Amino acid sequence: MGDDALLIKSGTQEFSAIEQLEKQVFDLKELFEISKSLNSTLDFTILIDSLLLICMAQLKVLKVGLLVRKHLDSEEFSLHRNYTGFEIDHTLAYTIPEKHDLIRFFNKQYGCYTIDEIRDNGVSLEGLDPILELNPSLLIPLQAQGRINGIIMMGERIDEGDFDSYEKKYILNVATLASIAINNAVLFEMATTDMMTKLKLKHYLFSVLNEWLDNAKTGECFSLLMFDIDFFKKVNDTYGHSCGDDVLRNVAQIIIDNTRSSDVAARYGGEEFVVLISHPGKSMALKIAERIRKTIETTKFKYKDVILGVTISCGIACYDKDRDVSGEAMIERADQALYQSKQNGRNRITLS
Ligand code: GH3
Ligand code: MG
Ligand code: MG
Repeated sequence: MGDDALLIKSGTQEFSAIEQLEKQVFDLKELFEISKSLNSTLDFTILIDSLLLICMAQLKVLKVGLLVRKHLDSEEFSLHRNYTGFEIDHTLAYTIPEKHDLIRFFNKQYGCYTIDEIRDNGVSLEGLDPILELNPSLLIPLQAQGRINGIIMMGERIDEGDFDSYEKKYILNVATLASIAINNAVLFEMATTDMMTKLKLKHYLFSVLNEWLDNAKTGECFSLLMFDIDFFKKVNDTYGHSCGDDVLRNVAQIIIDNTRSSDVAARYGGEEFVVLISHPGKSMALKIAERIRKTIETTKFKYKDVILGVTISCGIACYDKDRDVSGEAMIERADQALYQSKQNGRNRITLS
């Protein structure tokens, strides 16, 4: 047997059998590191960033993106904003409906495929023109618990070669690790989110509040805003509980729209909300509270053929190292300020 028999081709490179084994050991070690990195966070944005970086570094591509559900109950996969390299037209929707033939195909014949391979399998790609125009070299579905939870979209490789079967297997291993990490992040999101308003739950609020209080000892100040809808019982009594629920969802959306991703907006009780603002200044806290109060006051809420308006009262506590010795103490200060707003006529803000 000549030396040539021991040469194994991989992509554009040729390896001897020993080198091939060494490469496999190296790749396994890499997978272990990737697993550690992907499982070190439950933060969705950080997770996606690290997944995309891993894809670029390991598979030598310059363009990569991930299509995921935008919300827990989304019925389509949309290109996450952290994509790299692709030239995106922001007027187009880069989405794949959950019920699309392609997703059915991925579920039935799990694997990674080029667009040509997908077509060769008789799958219609109707309605996916914006994605096809990006000319992806490979689509890699992420599957956890028997369900597709994302699709990695790769651009062409730096060396413009095709992915061989070893590389495709390797990519699928990365995809498996990524889907488990994404599944964990989604489960965490579900366990910490109020499904009706999409705001965070009280227990999560307290865990972040305690963390921020720890950080505040070393100088990172923040503010706590507590809101309560005025005379909300009247809304329920006049228009019914479903209308009340609808108003709650809309008020929550206004709060989400007026806070940044670094802030934490939570449903504290029935019609009570707490927002943690990661900014030290009293003036910034007042500005955000006023923007929320004003937007709610001027919004006409529509429910079936009813049009109604509500107002909201607010109490603010800006971090004070002498008084905010615990999460409960800081909440209590904001609650007292909120009580003052109610006493003084509602639809107003009081600073503790
Ligand atoms: P105030 O201005 O003093 O806050 O008056 P209020 O009527 O808002 O206060 P109260 O605490 O008496 O009533 C709150 C109401 O919120 C009572 C409850 O029925 C309603 N509520 C709490 N959770 C929900 C919910 O999930 N859906 C609906 N529709 N109503 C809710
Ligand atoms: Mg209340
Ligand atoms: Mg109320």
